[in-house]
Amino acid sequence: MAIDSAAITAAVRAALESQGVKVIAGADNLVPVGVSNRHIHLSAAHVEALFGKGYELQPMKELSQPGQYACKEQLTIIGPSMRPIEKVRVLGPVRKATQVEISRTDSYTLKVKAPVRESGSIAGTPGLTIVGPKGVVTISEGCIIANRHIHMSPADGQAFGVKDGEYVNVEVDGERRTKWYDVQVRVHPDFRLEMHVDTDDANAVGLPCGSQVRVVKD
Ligand SMILES: [Zn+2]
Repeated sequence: MAIDSAAITAAVRAALESQGVKVIAGADNLVPVGVSNRHIHLSAAHVEALFGKGYELQPMKELSQPGQYACKEQLTIIGPSMRPIEKVRVLGPVRKATQVEISRTDSYTLKVKAPVRESGSIAGTPGLTIVGPKGVVTISEGCIIANRHIHMSPADGQAFGVKDGEYVNVEVDGERRTKWYDVQVRVHPDFRLEMHVDTDDANAVGLPCGSQVRVVKD
C-alpha cells in the first residue's frame, strides 16, 4: 500500500492542534515548482477551425497535473502589434472555452493588455488571433497572464492548513531570493502538489527546474 505522506502530515497536525499545540509553518511546507511557458487551451470547435474537421489533438507528454498533457500541436498567436509569436504549445484536453496564457513580456510583444487572472476566468479579457495549419481563429476574449497558484490535493490542503481559494505567501531561496505574495491555493481531488509560475517569474529569480519553494502564512 502506498503511504500518503501528506495524509500522515495532516493527521499529525490535527492531533497536535487538538491538544492545543500551535503548528507553525516549517521545513515541511515545501512545494515543488513547475514553470509554465506560454500555451493555449482550445475549445473543440476551435480545434476543428484551426486543424480541420474531425481533427483530434495528439498527446505528446503528460503534465504533472493528472489528465493534463502537452500536445504535438503548436500554433502562432498575433495581437495588434502584428508581431507573431510562433510555436505556442497546445495543452489538452479540450476545454469549454479557448484560453491563451502568456507572460507579461509576451504581452508587450503582442501589444495585448492581458490581465493577471485565475485560469478559466476570462470574462472581459482581451482576445487575439490564433493561426493554425488549416485555419485562423480570432477570439474576442481569453488572453490572460496566469496568476501564481499552487495545486493541492485535499490531503495536501489539510497538511498545509489551507483551503481552496485561499491565498498564501511563498518564500523563494536562491541567488535572487524573494517572496511572492498572494499566491492562490487551488484544492481539488485531481490535483497534485505543485506551484505554477510563468517564465517571467521563474526567470526573474533564476528558478532552476525541480526547485522547491516554501509556503508561509505571513
Ligand atoms: Zn496550474
